[in-house]
Order: sequence, then C-alpha cells, then structure tokens
Amino acid sequence: MEIKRKCIGCFEIINPLRIKALPHTKTCVNCSTTGAKKVISAQFGDKDDTWNDVVVIEADDFDQYERNQNIKVEFDKIEEEEE
Ligand SMILES: [Zn+2]
Repeated sequence: MEIKRKCIGCFEIINPLRIKALPHTKTCVNCSTTGAKKVISAQFGDKDDTWNDVVVIEADDFDQYERNQNIKVEFDKIEEEEE
C-alpha cells in the first residue's frame, strides 16, 4: 500500500518514505522551513518484507522521530517488568 500525501507548501507528492518515518508531516523536505536537516536510516515494511532506507528529515522532525523511538523502548521495558 502506497501512502500519497501532498505537500502543503508546493502541492507536490511527499516522498512516501518520509511519510512512513514521519506520519504527521505536512511538507516535503524542500518546503520545510526548520533549517537543519538530518539523515536517518529507518526500517520499512513488515514481517518478511522489510528493507532499510535513508530518509532526509528536518531537525524538528528528528526530535519527533526520536521521541517515537523512545516511547517504543519504554513500552518494551514495561512489558519486561511485568513478567
Ligand atoms: Zn513542498
């Protein structure tokens, strides 16, 4: 399933990999005004059909991305403690 969303800045289709990494993003990389950009390596797909790809995101989005990662880790810790 391909995710298609148009950038609110230029109305071009946003890179689907970017949307997968940042589900709430509304702009493409070019239209983002946050300045600094970071490159992350993220895993996509599920089960046997996974692949790693590089995604360019803004510094603000990177904070959001890192928070999402931290939330996941915290959930894992909670599950371990309950056992
Ligand atoms: Zn744009």
